[in-house]
Amino acid sequence: MSTRAARWWWRVSEAPTLRVCALYPDLMNIYADRGNLIVLRRRCEWRGLGFRLRSAGLGEPLEPGTADLYYIGGGQDRDQALCARDLAERKRDVLRAEAARGAVVLAVCGGYQLLGHEYELGGETLPGVGLVDLRTVRAQGPRLIGNAAIEVELSPGQRRVLAGFENHGGRTHLGPDARPLGRVLSGHGNNGTDGQEGVRSGNVIGTYLHGPLLPKNAWFADWLIETALSLREPLAPLDDELEQAAHALARRAAGLP
Ligand code: GLN
Repeated sequence: MSTRAARWWWRVSEAPTLRVCALYPDLMNIYADRGNLIVLRRRCEWRGLGFRLRSAGLGEPLEPGTADLYYIGGGQDRDQALCARDLAERKRDVLRAEAARGAVVLAVCGGYQLLGHEYELGGETLPGVGLVDLRTVRAQGPRLIGNAAIEVELSPGQRRVLAGFENHGGRTHLGPDARPLGRVLSGHGNNGTDGQEGVRSGNVIGTYLHGPLLPKNAWFADWLIETALSLREPLAPLDDELEQAAHALARRAAGLP
């Protein structure tokens, strides 16, 4: 990402502020997933938008109404187990209420697995937050690893590609009330068998794509900002030459033209 002056500003008095809450940023940060937060910050600041980041770790409650976007990254099974219990005991109700009022929830890999009903893992069942109708099971087979690309349609008629990297032992199965985030173009997706990747339910999004995700898919970062702030107009474009190159590289790594 280059440093550059924003080409476009809000009038200071009107500039909205994106308020982000990162859940367990120290424990759930595999493959530098925290980089997604840096992208959100920069893309807000380059446009003169405010950006405020708070975090909620183990033992810390969520305060209702204090964030527009909740974020959780991926993690190893051991760290995930700690977070799963804390999430279920201390944060589940507020997170569900926040999602119900339209806050964006973005969860990557290990975080994504915790959005569902449960994660079954070697005889142990980790609780999920039940935000979406899905279950994850740690299967006997090999880990699902590699570059991946999916086709998503976040706005009707607008199909776009998200490209990234996946590495998970868990297989996620969507229930009848859940819709995938996208269709697998390349890679394994939720479970390596049904061609589905991630989940989307309104503003709640889960995906297996690391990379981190947003540096490789800057357009998606903008969609998240617009959605979290309920902007009526699309954000002004930035000089995204480097971001587009990163996206093109990630697509090619996944075998797409
Ligand atoms: N521990 C989980 C799994 O292996 C998630 C891993 C990750 O976040 N990359 O399925």
